[in-house]
This record gives sequence, structure tokens and C-alpha cells, in this order.
Amino acid sequence: MHEPAGYELATSIPVTRRATVPRLVTGRFRTLEEADTVIRAGDADLVGLMRAHIADPDIVKKTVAGHPERVRPCIACNQGCLAGIKGPANRIGCTVNAGAGLELKLGDHLLKPVSKPRRVLIVGGGPAGMEAARVAATRGHKVTLLEAEPALGGRIRMASKAPTRATMGDITQWLEQEVYRLGVDVRLSTFVDPAEVLAMQHDEGFDDVIVATGSTPRMDGIQVSNPGEPIRGFRQPHVLSSWDLMLDDRRSLGRAALVIDETGHFEAVAVTEMLQVRGLSVTYITRHTGIAPQMEGALMVEPALQRIRARGGFTFHPRTRAVSIDQGTAVIAPTYLKAEGGLLATVPADIVVFISPNRSNRDIYDALRAQGAGVRIVGDANSPRYLPTAISEGHRAGASV
Ligand code: SF4
Repeated sequence: MHEPAGYELATSIPVTRRATVPRLVTGRFRTLEEADTVIRAGDADLVGLMRAHIADPDIVKKTVAGHPERVRPCIACNQGCLAGIKGPANRIGCTVNAGAGLELKLGDHLLKPVSKPRRVLIVGGGPAGMEAARVAATRGHKVTLLEAEPALGGRIRMASKAPTRATMGDITQWLEQEVYRLGVDVRLSTFVDPAEVLAMQHDEGFDDVIVATGSTPRMDGIQVSNPGEPIRGFRQPHVLSSWDLMLDDRRSLGRAALVIDETGHFEAVAVTEMLQVRGLSVTYITRHTGIAPQMEGALMVEPALQRIRARGGFTFHPRTRAVSIDQGTAVIAPTYLKAEGGLLATVPADIVVFISPNRSNRDIYDALRAQGAGVRIVGDANSPRYLPTAISEGHRAGASV
């Protein structure tokens, strides 16, 4: 994701320009237009697109039909394809294409038009809700999509603000474009509580409700390694979630930050890079043995470490937790020792960013279930995880209506 389209051309062109055999180049090409540009320039006879075909097997068909804008974009995350093969699933998948690797039972090619359209209400316009809306509308259902914020996109809108992560937003932009193209009734800036959803269901006659209300940061200072010892001094204005940081880029941050990573995913890396770009030094502590171990299979960690190291001002402590937070400093300690066990250290911390598994927003789902209403729940609202599961669950819910 950190490389531009055609990033290998700089090294392949000196070879391909001299070659007299058919020449094939590769390197994060996403569209036929990008491939065409290389061929027209005489730098290759063939351009290999691998991930672009996984993200949308109909890339050629849609482009040749004159609709390149309908091609579902690969976001170059490697989470489903490369990490899928290397991971416990041991099969290829795709973050943006729920059907990849499951073509016999899932995917756009299996979406059949319905004979009796139903009225479907979807609460939450993040990736899970938008994918559910897209799939249900593709099948011919009449879909209404509610979003509390003034824009669609959910957490991905924030994630795409981090350095080198802008491409994350390509998939939510595409989903947004598709739900409007398919005629989904999108209602922005529409926060609803459980009673209002029940009233809407009654007044507007919705047959099905899909809850995709996401999750919110769990700012309680409890660390998985030492749950009985919450961080002392946690509730202070300079202790932030990643959302606080990403949503307010004018906040005064000081010169030194402590990043506490509980998840082992990319979020703490993105936060670190954002802080570095804003001129802060970063002390990064985690209960894990390394940085972002969940992203090893996606090959994101090494390039991120190169960027982080090049900026400087970065200190890493594995198997470490925070004990207490003060003004300008924090005390850290090994996860495997009690606070009184020694080996404590004081680190600079004008701000502290706490990154932990989120808490699901399940109020609407629980209330509707209690009323006996037919309701599905998808994405982080179901259980806080990441983009691949959000889109997969959204797809399955939309396909099952
Ligand atoms: S998993 Fe990510 S990188 Fe791989 S094909 Fe899908 S969107 Fe592209």
C-alpha cells in the first residue's frame, strides 16, 4: 500500500527497453488504464495484474463494457490474499471481495435477483453496512441506509488519514458510489436510538433490519496482560484514543508521546507514524513480542519500521505495560512482573495514546432482539475486528435477505 502503481518500473524499464523477447512487468497495477499507459509508452508488451483480479474478477468485463468506475478496487493491503495463504485459513481471500477463495458459495456472481423485493433497513454506513446495502440492493431489495455521521465510511475514514494509508479509503469510496448508483435511500447525519428504529420499522414497514453500528474505543486503562491493575492516572485529558488523535489534527500534542498497543494490529503503527509526522518522539510499548504481529503475513511491518526508523525518535519496548501516567511522564514495567517487582522505568509522555480492542455498539441490536424482531448484526457491532470481516459479514447479510 505504501508503494505507487508501477513502482517496479524504475528497475524494470532499463531491462525491458533493451529486450527483444516479449516483456512482462508487474508492480501494484490496479486498472487497465494504468496497464495501457505502460504498454503505450513502449515499456512492456504485457502488464501483470494479480491482486486487481482477486479484488474484482470482472475487472476486464466491466472495463471493456465502458464502466471502469464499477471495478472494485484492490487496496493493496495483502490481508486477505497473501496473509490468507500464510495464515491459519491456508487459503486465498480478499479484504474487499468477500467471495474470493469461496467462489462456490459466495460472491457477486452468485447474487440472484429476488422475485419479491423486501424493505431492508441498515443502521450504520461503515464498510459492513455499505456492503450489506450494496448486496441487498443488487438483488433488487429496497434498501434504506442510516448513518449517524455526515459522511459514509465509518472507521476507514479515520484509518485512511494515516501516512501511506490513503488507499484504504478507495474501498469505502467505491462502496459509497455503488450504493448511490443502486438507488439505496441513504440518510446521513441520522442518529437513531433503539426506540426510533422500532418506530421506523413500524411506520415505514421495513421487513428486515441489519445492524452495522460499529464499535468505539474502550478507554478504561485495562491492559490484557495485567487486567487487575488498571493504569493509574488514566483518566486525564492528555490520554487519548487513536480516534481522538485522528479526528482532531489541530490538538496540541507536545513533543513526546507514549503509545500503548494492546491489539498487535496496524493501528498503533499508524498512530506512531502520525505522531512522528507531527514532530513527536514516540515510546511504543506492547504486551506482544514484536510490533504489529497480526500484520506480519501482510508484509506491512518491515516497510513501516523502515519509515519509522528513518524519521527517528522512536523507542520500542516489547512485553511491556504502563503502570501509571503523570503530567509529562509515564511509568512502564515488564508485563511479567508485578508493579512492586522492580524493573520500572519512567518515559517522557506529553500525551499517551491507548490502543485496545474496541467495545461493540450493540444497543440497537439487543433492543430489537428483546422485542422479538428479526434482525441481523454485522461487522464491529457484532464483535470488534477488522475490515475483512466487516465486509464479509456485510456481504453475507445482504445476500441472505
Ligand atoms: S486482500 Fe487486499 S491486497 Fe489482496 S487482493 Fe484483496 S484488497 Fe488487494
